[in-house]
Parts: sequence; C-alpha cells; structure tokens
Amino acid sequence: MHRVQVLVVGGGPAGSAAAWHCAQAGLDVCLVDRARFPRAKPCAEYVSPEGSRILHAMGALETLEMQAAALSGMVVHAPSGDRIHGEFVARHGFRGFRDRGLGVRREVLDTVLLDRARAAGVQVLEQAKVEQLLQQPDGTVTGATLRTPAGERTMHAALVIGADGLRSVVSRRLGLAHQSRWPRRVALVAHYRNVSGVGTLGEMHVTRRGYVGLAAVGDGLVNVALVVPRRHAGDMRDGTAAYLTRWLEAHPTLASRFGGATRVTPVRATGPFASRARRPWHPGAILTGDAADFYDPFTGEGIYSALRGGELLTEYALSAVRASSRDVHVRALRGYERARQQTFGGKWRVEQLIGMAVGMPPLLNHAARVLSRDRDLADLLIGVTGDFVPPRAVLTPRTLLRFLGWAARSPFPPPCLV
Ligand SMILES: Cc1cc2nc3c(=O)[nH]c(=O)nc-3n(C[C@H](O)[C@H](O)[C@H](O)COP(=O)(O)OP(=O)(O)OC[C@H]3O[C@@H](n4cnc5c(N)ncnc54)[C@H](O)[C@@H]3O)c2cc1C
Repeated sequence: MHRVQVLVVGGGPAGSAAAWHCAQAGLDVCLVDRARFPRAKPCAEYVSPEGSRILHAMGALETLEMQAAALSGMVVHAPSGDRIHGEFVARHGFRGFRDRGLGVRREVLDTVLLDRARAAGVQVLEQAKVEQLLQQPDGTVTGATLRTPAGERTMHAALVIGADGLRSVVSRRLGLAHQSRWPRRVALVAHYRNVSGVGTLGEMHVTRRGYVGLAAVGDGLVNVALVVPRRHAGDMRDGTAAYLTRWLEAHPTLASRFGGATRVTPVRATGPFASRARRPWHPGAILTGDAADFYDPFTGEGIYSALRGGELLTEYALSAVRASSRDVHVRALRGYERARQQTFGGKWRVEQLIGMAVGMPPLLNHAARVLSRDRDLADLLIGVTGDFVPPRAVLTPRTLLRFLGWAARSPFPPPCLV
C-alpha cells in the first residue's frame, strides 16, 4: 500500500501538466500511466502559440522547439475550392506568447513533459494501469488499484486526477462519462516523408467525405490526419492503411503531392471522439484534458486545453487536498468546475460553430467564400484557435453577421474590445 496527496492517472499533456503544477505547489504527487514512454498517440500534433506559454513555464519549450516545426498559421481548403488563409501575426494586434505554433510529434512532446514532471519531484510509474477506484461508502474516491508488470498495487490519495484521455476509466467508474451523439467521426493518423509543397502553414482539406490535415512536425516528417464520418468505417474492411491511401489518391489536388511520398509510421486509428463529462469532478476526484471534454480535432485544441487545465486545477487541488471537511472539499471542486466554464466556455462555443460548418459543406463553402475575401476576419479566427485572441472577439453579433457575409468589413481593432 502506498499513500500520496495526489494521484494523477494518465501521463499525456493533461496529466504531466497537472502533476508538474501540483508538485510545484508543494503537493506530494504520483503519476501513473498504462503505457511505456515514448508512446505514440493519434493526433495532428499542432500546439497553439499560447500553448508555448505553458510549455515555457514547465521548462520544456526550448527542448521542444529544437525538435519541432514552426507553424505560421493555417489554410483551410473548402469543398468549393475557396481557401481560408489566416496567420498568427496579423493586423488585429493580438499577440500570442510565441508568434508561431508548433508541429511536434507526440512521442517527443509527451516524453519531454513527463520528464519535466519527474524533475519537479513527481513519482512516475509507467506500465501501471488503473483498473478500479477505491471509494468510501459515501462514494468519496480515496485512491485506485493498479495493474503493473509486478502485479496488483493499491495507491491511496486525498485527490485522484483523471487525466486518462478520451475513454477515461476514472470518468467511467464515477458515472461521469458522456459520449455526444454528434459529430460521430473517426480518425486515421500517420507520418509521411517527401510530401510535396508542405510549408509553414498547417493545412486542412475539407471534402464531402471528411477532412484531412497536413502539417510539418520536424525532422522532415509530415503528419497526415484524416477524419471521416463513422459510417465510413465499413469501407476500412481491407485495412486502415489501404483506406488512407485510397482516400488520398482520390483527392483532386493531394494525389499528386503524395506521388513521391512514403508513409513511415503505422496508420493509427481512433474515435469516435466527441465526449464531455457530465461534470469535471466527484468527491475525491477531478477530471482534466480529454477525460473532461473533447469535441473534434479540427481546431487543434486538445493539447492547449490539456496543458491549461493542468495549470488551472492546481489551486483547487490544493484546497481540496487540505480541506478540513467534506463540504470544504466539495466547495473547492465546484470552484474548479466554474473556473473551467469561465476559461473554456467561449472556446467551446467557437469550436462547436466551426465543427458545425465542417459537417455541413454548403455552410463551410459560404464561410470560405466570405473569409477568402476578408483576411482580417480569417486572421482573427485563426487567432482564436491559436488561443491568444479571446473568443468574444468573434462571438459578437456583428462579427457573426460578417461570417454570413451580411455585414461590411470593419477596421481593426474591433470596437468592442478597445
Ligand atoms: C485525430 C486527432 C487529431 C488531433 N489533433 C490535435 C492537434 O493537432 N492539436 C491539439 O492540440 N489536439 C489535437 N487532438 C486532441 C489531442 O490529441 C488531445 O486533446 C490530447 O492528447 C489530450 O491530452 P490528455 O493528456 O488529456 O490525453 P491523452 O494524450 O490521451 O493521454 C492520456 C494518457 O492516459 C493514459 N491512460 C489511459 N487509461 C489509463 C488507465 N486506465 N491507467 C493508466 N493510464 C491510462 C494513456 O496511456 C495516455 O498516456 C487531436 C485528437 C485527435 C483524435
């Protein structure tokens, strides 16, 4: 039996950030992950400019920048052929912590972050899978049982942080998991070499058969992430690799760019992914990262939210661990729920609007037609996805009318923000 103040389940960006911040705040932390690192994770591997602020605070940014590709913005190709081109440095005047995003392989990112957690004093156990939670008769979580290569182990904790991703066992065991009905999409991800024409812009190509993202991720590699409606899974009967190859070959402009390319990693599949916990806490436990919520990969949001969630939860974790009574403990966890709502609420709305447009080609075609002629608005939107432009900048009625093409362009900065 082992006892710690905080047990973090999951060593992805959410778990490492939560563990690092809690350890820095003076808590005794153990992090467990069922995997052995470095481990791959199906992901388009883009980190937003504001994500770099947290990576810097954790002492990870310099190491990562040496192994990553720099991304200056994003270009979205709509089914109609119109292009939305937005860059992080723009006339709106908002600036991120860095003027660029990062394309970085998850094997690299997650291993560097886990090492930073270790350096902060976190006890890290790899190949330790949480199977059950320990709970008191009133339901309060008091720890977990782990399956390790050496056998079963029990770990007691004043607080369990569920950072164990989309199919979080912590969330499921507590009855908090909720899989959304829409959108139901699945993803196939692989790395390629020698894809022609890949520059410093991340690319999204949206078609009626799904969308594919391309981005440089350092070391001459390009991440290819295809997302298709789940009903297409039946067409993958001869294998995900064959399906991905066929999909790219059938694309009118991408086929020639992949003519001389070689796939250098297996095709990894995941999905469906839209899920949101009913609430991000339960007495004795809190959820962060994908375990708390994830919508759709289109905006490349998850890593920033995972890092930011770890940063955000620390003060509430401290209060919950040191609480003198169950009531005080629960009050701290409710505070965490409110803080998440305040921090991420606007962003969730923007993501849902974008997700809706991506799932409805006529709507996306319309938005692309408007945005291809309104570069300022495209830059503003890319800034929101880069986490340094506040979502309220695009959620004003006037800006929404601009998206619909019903309002004239306005000079920057937007009057509502000055
Ligand atoms: C196709 C696709 C593309 C994406 N592209 C982007 C992108 O470009 N940019 C971006 O920001 N986000 C992207 N995302 C989202 C991003 O991958 C996630 O939001 C991010 O990984 C969340 O981090 P996390 O730490 O919460 O979860 P994860 O990274 O999934 O980490 C969870 C960890 O928990 C461990 N674990 C799970 N169960 C247990 C258990 N029972 N016991 C112990 N350990 C356990 C796992 O081994 C894993 O290491 C994408 C997602 C998908 C599906």
